[in-house]
Amino acid sequence: MEKGDLYKVLGVSKGASQEEIRRSYRKLAREHHPDANRDDPKAEERFKEIQHAYEILSNPEKRRQYDEGPRTFFGAGNAGQRNAGGARTEDFSDLFGSFGGLGDVFGRSTRSTSSSSKGQSITVSINLSFKDALNGVTTRVSVPVEEACGDCGGTGAARGTSPRTCPECGGRGVRSRDQGFFAFSEPCARCGGEGVIIEKPCPACSGSGRLRKARQVTVRIPAGAKDGMKIRVPGRGSAGRRGGAAGDLFVVTQVAEHPVFKRRGDDFIVEVPVSFVEAALGAGIEVPRPGGGTVKLRLPAGTQDGKQFRVRGAGAPKARAKSGERGDLIVRAKLVVPRKLKKREREILETLAEERDEDVRGELFKKVGS
Ligand SMILES: [Zn+2]
Ligand SMILES: [Zn+2]
Repeated sequence: MEKGDLYKVLGVSKGASQEEIRRSYRKLAREHHPDANRDDPKAEERFKEIQHAYEILSNPEKRRQYDEGPRTFFGAGNAGQRNAGGARTEDFSDLFGSFGGLGDVFGRSTRSTSSSSKGQSITVSINLSFKDALNGVTTRVSVPVEEACGDCGGTGAARGTSPRTCPECGGRGVRSRDQGFFAFSEPCARCGGEGVIIEKPCPACSGSGRLRKARQVTVRIPAGAKDGMKIRVPGRGSAGRRGGAAGDLFVVTQVAEHPVFKRRGDDFIVEVPVSFVEAALGAGIEVPRPGGGTVKLRLPAGTQDGKQFRVRGAGAPKARAKSGERGDLIVRAKLVVPRKLKKREREILETLAEERDEDVRGELFKKVGS
């Protein structure tokens, strides 16, 4: 059946190079273009055949499929011709102007639908203890990815069979529709824009060519990681389609709250109880550090409740800093008043009260009055 032999249509041998195919196509397309053969009613039919043959043979993947099972392309030939006719107002106008342009028209519509695409990016969250977030940790996360099915090599067709070029769109994945002078493209409904149809689905993946899998990925959490931080692990998302790049993995941190240390940027805030005597007299005290251990702090005499002191470099490691630069620890003094007094303590305080004869609310009433 000569009509079905795409190589004969283009007048090239089975072993022809892509360049030979392209050259022959250009020559034939120019010769048989309907606009150049207005007296020949069969010219358009021939021209469509040439276009279709070129479309298949110029695409290495489609050419391979054709070589493996040329019969599946007979039907495709007719459908492809119908489409070529539909797109005529657009495609043909380009022909005599630039042949390179024509190749692009097909190339683009093919790439945008049925050729390779990047895999999906996946976001997972990871729960971190306060300590792991502070010191950094290397840990494993389970990532639900889609991978190409090993049984069918990602084609979705059962072993021993291969996907068939969609007869509706001729493998382009899109259909052209004539609307007066304009041609519109829309995804092919028959093949869902894939360009191929699977007749015997692979039992392992039900024809999708993809399998969901929980993949263990090792992730390095940097020291000083904050809650809600997004860490990108390139290429660890779902596998791409038809040789496309894998998507990325994003790990979002969820850091457990500490009962004492509250994070604010790269700083930590800690509320430290201070006795009213320490506050009044001043004192050297020890305060806990977020990473363990303590740090000394000098409280001046007359420290007020809620007063904040900054201990430089005792906070969290800064995410993008070099040489272990850290935020600060902010110490907030919380004055503690004794709930009970011994007899002797009471006497001392009573003596103090007599001594000071203090009017602590004087300022307040002055402000109220004015
Ligand atoms: Zn499969
Ligand atoms: Zn289709």
